[in-house]
Amino acid sequence: MLLENKTHFDVDFLHTFVNRYNTNNLRVKVAYTKLGAKCPYSGRFYGRKSYIRVSVNPDNSYPLEIIVGSPFNRAGWRRFQMNSAEEMVSFVFLHEMSHFLDHQSGLPLGCKQTKADMFALRKMGKVR
Ligand SMILES: [Zn+2]
Repeated sequence: MLLENKTHFDVDFLHTFVNRYNTNNLRVKVAYTKLGAKCPYSGRFYGRKSYIRVSVNPDNSYPLEIIVGSPFNRAGWRRFQMNSAEEMVSFVFLHEMSHFLDHQSGLPLGCKQTKADMFALRKMGKVR
């Protein structure tokens, strides 16, 4: 995994989340959201380029509450606290990582948001 960091956060620890996966061709860029952005974070996985972009708003204050899930899910909506920028980066990165792993095993992308959120929260030890 090639990790490019455009923020002042230390994000090298992201490697430890994925050292048991084959991420040889994966490029990851961690950056700030655009100046004045309203959203606390955003992420995207580009399948064809094998590229993950993680953006975190530098104006976030922590702890920051995120809401994941869906009304169609058995568990419904659930709230989780991100306690630091590092946790926020981890969550977005691991969410996109779930899409990368699906893509790698030939599963179709899309409509897997709750699965990706739960993958991230599990890896972070916030759910079992
Ligand atoms: Zn997603």
